[in-house]
Amino acid sequence: MAYDVTFIPGDGTGPEISEATRRVIEATGVEFNWDWQDAGIDVYEAEGTPLPDRVIESIKQTKVAIKGPITTPVGSGFRSVNVALRKALDLYSCQRPIKLYDGVRSHFDAVDYVIIRENHEDLYAGIEFEEGSEDALKLIEAIKDISGTEIRHDSGISIKPISIFGTERIVRSAFEYAKKHGRKKVTLAHKSNIMKFSDGLFLRVGTRIAQEEYPEIEFDDRIIDNLCNQLVSRPEEYDVIVLPNLYGDIVSDLGAGMIGGLGLAPGANIGDDYAIFEATHGSAPKYKGLNKINPTALILSSVMMLHHLGESDAATRLENAIADVIREGKDVTYDLKPTRDDPTAVGTAEFADAIIAKLQASVPA
Ligand code: NAD
Repeated sequence: MAYDVTFIPGDGTGPEISEATRRVIEATGVEFNWDWQDAGIDVYEAEGTPLPDRVIESIKQTKVAIKGPITTPVGSGFRSVNVALRKALDLYSCQRPIKLYDGVRSHFDAVDYVIIRENHEDLYAGIEFEEGSEDALKLIEAIKDISGTEIRHDSGISIKPISIFGTERIVRSAFEYAKKHGRKKVTLAHKSNIMKFSDGLFLRVGTRIAQEEYPEIEFDDRIIDNLCNQLVSRPEEYDVIVLPNLYGDIVSDLGAGMIGGLGLAPGANIGDDYAIFEATHGSAPKYKGLNKINPTALILSSVMMLHHLGESDAATRLENAIADVIREGKDVTYDLKPTRDDPTAVGTAEFADAIIAKLQASVPA
């Protein structure tokens, strides 16, 4: 059976890593009917929107997409296509495994934890009031009336909503991930000592879900600053970490730094009905067309997609093939070499070729 999957190649370096990923995932022997859908800057020029309805319609049909990164030009007037897609399909759970592979240069010996980041709420909700605007001044007056708190009139304001509904489902998603992948512990991160009614709610509701619904899985919590300290001093103590949106964003990049960089950090955005698999990194536009950047993050995202589709055997074979190539350290991109200008570094396509060769060697005769 061939799986119907939407493939969004993205822009910048997106098409190069997408092509590498397509070739590698097809080499597992799992069959796909790709529905190719362009989105991003080039589409904006041709179709007047960076995210045409056809892209959303395709994912509603296929239910699963894999996606290269898409640029959000600063000051262009259009909001992030990545954020818009997650909202349109209600992909509330962002899942990012942080795993250190042998052969990668890192300050750490062993790292293997998973970040589950809430995708819609918190300071990312987009509720913003510009400094000096009529609405900002109205809000400042209203807050003074309601709470007596004085906010300086020359302030810009961003609102941080965290709901019971949003917290319940992201914490459940973290526990379901732990159950599905045999993980033993969930840690909830927050700053409830300072933000009692937003992060405090996240902690209170999360603790209730843990106790009432998942007593068989260990649960604890950490204040976010302490979590950052401990992640880099005792990473082996962490397994699954569930965080509100902004902390999840920051800790994702911290995690990528612990395992060799953004070129190695995969991800998935999952909702109740649809899923999009994409790397943590952006479109790295300065490397566009150079066949240079590391395709591993998107290829590992495709490993997550294979698990999601129930193709766990192919997923394991592909992950092992990637791990072998990285361990050997020969046919890898510049970011995995001892120095960035190492002349033995291979390109994006050749890295994919090396993974395909390992996959072919591992297939039983
Ligand atoms: P970026 O992740 O694109 O790149 C930052 C740097 O990280 C690069 O210059 C490069 O040195 C390194 N890097 C990233 N990916 C790499 C890889 N696969 N292999 C080797 N090195 C890699 O971040 P940025 O420059 O801040 O963002 C560029 C654009 O991407 C922005 O428009 C941003 O909005 C967008 N973006 C998109 C997504 C997404 O599509 N989900 C995510 C983040 C950023």
